Amino acid sequence: MVKICCIGAGYVGGPTMAVIALKCPKIEVAVVDISVSRINAWNSDQLPIYEPGLDGVVKDCRGRNLFFSTDVEKHVFEADIVFVSVNTPTKTRGLGAGKAADLTYWESAARMIADVSKSDKIVVEKSTVPVKTAEAIEKILTHNSKGIKFQILSNPEFLAEGTAIKDLFNPDRVLIGGRETPEGQKAIGMLKSVYAHWVPEERILTTNLWSAELSKLAANAFLAQRISSVNAISALCEATGADVSQVAYSVGTDSRIGPKFLNASVGFGGSCFQKDILNLVYICECNGLPEVAEYWKQVIKINDYQKNRFVNRVVASMFNTVSNKKVAILGFAFKKDTGDTRETPAIDVCKGLLGDKARLSIYDPQVSEDQIQRDLTLSKFEWDHPTHLQPMSPTTVKQVSVVWDAYEATKEAHAVCILTEWDEFKSLDYQRIYNNMMKPAFIFDGRNVLDADKLREIGFIVFSIGKPLDS
Ligand code: NAD
Repeated sequence: MVKICCIGAGYVGGPTMAVIALKCPKIEVAVVDISVSRINAWNSDQLPIYEPGLDGVVKDCRGRNLFFSTDVEKHVFEADIVFVSVNTPTKTRGLGAGKAADLTYWESAARMIADVSKSDKIVVEKSTVPVKTAEAIEKILTHNSKGIKFQILSNPEFLAEGTAIKDLFNPDRVLIGGRETPEGQKAIGMLKSVYAHWVPEERILTTNLWSAELSKLAANAFLAQRISSVNAISALCEATGADVSQVAYSVGTDSRIGPKFLNASVGFGGSCFQKDILNLVYICECNGLPEVAEYWKQVIKINDYQKNRFVNRVVASMFNTVSNKKVAILGFAFKKDTGDTRETPAIDVCKGLLGDKARLSIYDPQVSEDQIQRDLTLSKFEWDHPTHLQPMSPTTVKQVSVVWDAYEATKEAHAVCILTEWDEFKSLDYQRIYNNMMKPAFIFDGRNVLDADKLREIGFIVFSIGKPLDS
């Protein structure tokens, strides 16, 4: 029986390995992590992450051929294939701070693999890493092993949070990069045979290592660039009276462009887009390509601009001040169907409104009060380094309340901001919400999910991204 171990039981490691275990009942899959609380949650009924369909998959195979454990070394020792799916955040200090990927977790995983291995292994990069990382990993593994042979493969993950299980069941492609040596090709064949249990052969792409590593960064950069492109056009729409939905539809019907990922919004978030573009920028700079770096930087600049623009629009519309006004925030996760708040635009929007002394009442169906308070109180550095945790500032505590109902959040509010496109926000009773709000009642739809005309009929003053403005 082939044994797989995955180091890192996060948003990628957990779902990816659960699907491999489901589709390959004859393969034993162990997902290991240094976080005891995360592993305990994976072994409980309350999984550590929310993903539609994930519960069912985990329940089907947990204890059969899927195991979650903190005994990292034991499972690495036993495995034939070791996936590494640890976090690769942006460096916060030292050389490349603010741009380069922090590979500390990867390096310590690689050193541990070399240390405990007593048999040859395939080591798979599942995390998103800078191009050429495999070279560094190879050095660490070969210089620390005692005659054990390692083959490094790059197998970046393209799932999107919120649709992870669907994406894993039916991927557009699975990408495997490896060395062009006979050993490298043999390793590619072995990993291919795992995915071949359910992925059609023509969707399993094989490349050299550097192409696979760079493809993941490029794919995320392209996706984020589309969002920034349509958001840049949305600003022009508001200035001219054009409607961004009509423009995006007209543009997207061109088969060379396509309709997906053209929704204007308050901005993109999530743990990957910004970090991966920053990483791409850093790699370009290190390779003497400042013009290319500058090009990709613009994607992030437009995203920041869009979030600021939204805050300014809210404040300007509400007679130039939100001081002591109650603003209901509907949605805090960076997208629907996830509880993940990493880099969510809601953090910037809320901080912007708090800066003008608004009182916020926040509701998100999947994000806890504790998470929201921390996101709004701590800097990113403190959040990533829990030893630096500061007590919440008393001002923030007073200005922010987190509630478990959209109607409660909007009661006596001066304005509503939609910051996540949760389906349930489309079917709320907006007449009831209007009746219980202060007047004039404003709605700022940061995701363009509501029917603005219907809301106007009720009496709301409505702002949608990239749409003609209410007079
Ligand atoms: P995550 O933070 O949710 O999970 C990473 C896990 O690795 C954590 O639980 C952490 O405790 C564990 N870990 C770190 N060092 C470890 C070690 N030495 N031994 C054992 N466990 C260790 O991160 P994630 O969102 O799952 O992302 C993982 C990687 O996948 C990143 O490189 C990310 O860029 C990439 N990626 C993420 C997504 C996504 O949607 N989240 C999609 C594609 C790719």
